[in-house]
Amino acid sequence: MEPNVEAHIAALAESKHRPVWFESDDMLEPLPPLNGDATCELLIIGGGFTGLWAALQAKERMPDLNIILVEQTFVGDGASGRNGGFLSSSLTHGETNGDYHFPGEAEQLYELGQQNMKEFIETLERYNIDAEYEAVGSTSVATNDAMVAQLRKEYEASKAAGDDVVWFDRDDMRRQVNSPTYLAGVWWRDGQDGVVHPAKLCWGLKKTILSLGVRIFEGTPVNNIAEDGDGMRSTCDSGNVHSGKILMATNAFPGLLPQMRRQVIPVWDYQIATEPLNDEQLASIGWGESRHALSNAANMFHYYRITKDNRITWGGGGSICYYYGSRTDQSVADDPARFKRLAREFLETFPQLEGVKFTNRWSGIIASSTRFCVVPGVTFNGRVSWAIGYTGLGVGATRFGARMGLELLGYQPSEVLDMVFIKRRAMSWFPEPLRWIGVTLTRHALSKADANGGKRGLWLKILDFFHMGFAC
Ligand SMILES: Cc1cc2nc3c(=O)[nH]c(=O)nc-3n(C[C@H](O)[C@H](O)[C@H](O)COP(=O)(O)OP(=O)(O)OC[C@H]3O[C@@H](n4cnc5c(N)ncnc54)[C@H](O)[C@@H]3O)c2cc1C
Repeated sequence: MEPNVEAHIAALAESKHRPVWFESDDMLEPLPPLNGDATCELLIIGGGFTGLWAALQAKERMPDLNIILVEQTFVGDGASGRNGGFLSSSLTHGETNGDYHFPGEAEQLYELGQQNMKEFIETLERYNIDAEYEAVGSTSVATNDAMVAQLRKEYEASKAAGDDVVWFDRDDMRRQVNSPTYLAGVWWRDGQDGVVHPAKLCWGLKKTILSLGVRIFEGTPVNNIAEDGDGMRSTCDSGNVHSGKILMATNAFPGLLPQMRRQVIPVWDYQIATEPLNDEQLASIGWGESRHALSNAANMFHYYRITKDNRITWGGGGSICYYYGSRTDQSVADDPARFKRLAREFLETFPQLEGVKFTNRWSGIIASSTRFCVVPGVTFNGRVSWAIGYTGLGVGATRFGARMGLELLGYQPSEVLDMVFIKRRAMSWFPEPLRWIGVTLTRHALSKADANGGKRGLWLKILDFFHMGFAC
């Protein structure tokens, strides 16, 4: 049978431009904005995972601390309510990237990542936060011979390191999840990695910190921060907040300080989600049994998973994009070409699902740093800190980023602050137009490497030499 070339367009026709995660009865109404002036000891700016975890950990460490959290739109409206929900214990966007940027600290970072994840899951249990956590590990698939060779190397290395890891050859992999594109796969099934419902995690954290006495103002953008006696003043549209300290958790959005704006760039990532699959559709891919959290072993990789109600969410690949001038405005949020590309690639992977409808399409902004993992910072004599730039892996790492932000403000600092991971200044991104040229060249070079069986061309080799290549 000839493939229906328009099938992907038809499948998208009735989709809503809204994260599938927001289609839940649990979605919370935003709280009222700040109205007038307010005072607190710690002001947290940003209502994503970093800000929410910062508030929660601060309250656990110092129950009497007077905390306000302000969010410019609503809690979970940033990357935290829009991501794929892949939960990884890695703090460094993968071990390879960690070894590359922080040689000598790999073991400590691994241990800290494991501890962070353990505490993360214990916190969900302690406060009854139903984030639909499933400990399914992570699974990487190969769709060409070069990827098979690369995955095999990763599998051998993981096995030698004692990880609980499973190799699937072509037929085994297709028995797990049935795609004619799969040639092999590796399942890292040990540990605590898995998937969550990201928006439910945001809402659960929000409810928890409210119950612990944190005041939250939504619809409250902070426009400026300045010294104010021995504290800080944050100017919002509808009033000022006077605080002893500030933790900024604004990630990809324009930073309130110039050094923050140089440390991260906003990279748009697009996703689609299917309607809940029926039994026949589920049986045709076999995925309902294994519930793997999948990605392919490419530079410009797709990530996809199955939700509790048996939808597939699908994102990444060549749709990921940086727009000239570090754009974060909504005008690029609903880009039909990117969604069509995602839908087409989805149906190439699962042709047996032709006829399935995509109910939701959406996008979000990843904050990419030059080290491809969180960048902490502190200024104003220890009164203002930040943790931003998790690149594409922040669902788990934001809890640790929040901890760093708190410790940098002097709240129960630990030996973690002595690590190169925290102390080394992240290289700044170049200004425009070099920024756009560099990122665009890199995107093309990564796609080309994928098409050439992983062979890195001259541009990527230059970046690798200067430790600026993404080595995930
Ligand atoms: C499409 C997509 C898919 C992803 N998939 C995954 C994944 O599967 N696994 C994974 O580990 N990571 C993933 N990530 C990355 C992960 O979502 C982020 O690293 C993480 O959510 C960052 O959390 P955050 O709180 O630091 O930032 P955000 O969630 O972006 O929160 C920042 C908040 O600050 C607010 N804000 C900004 N400026 C101001 C201001 N001046 N005043 C008041 N408020 C302000 C914003 O409105 C926003 O709500 C993905 C990201 C995207 C975009």
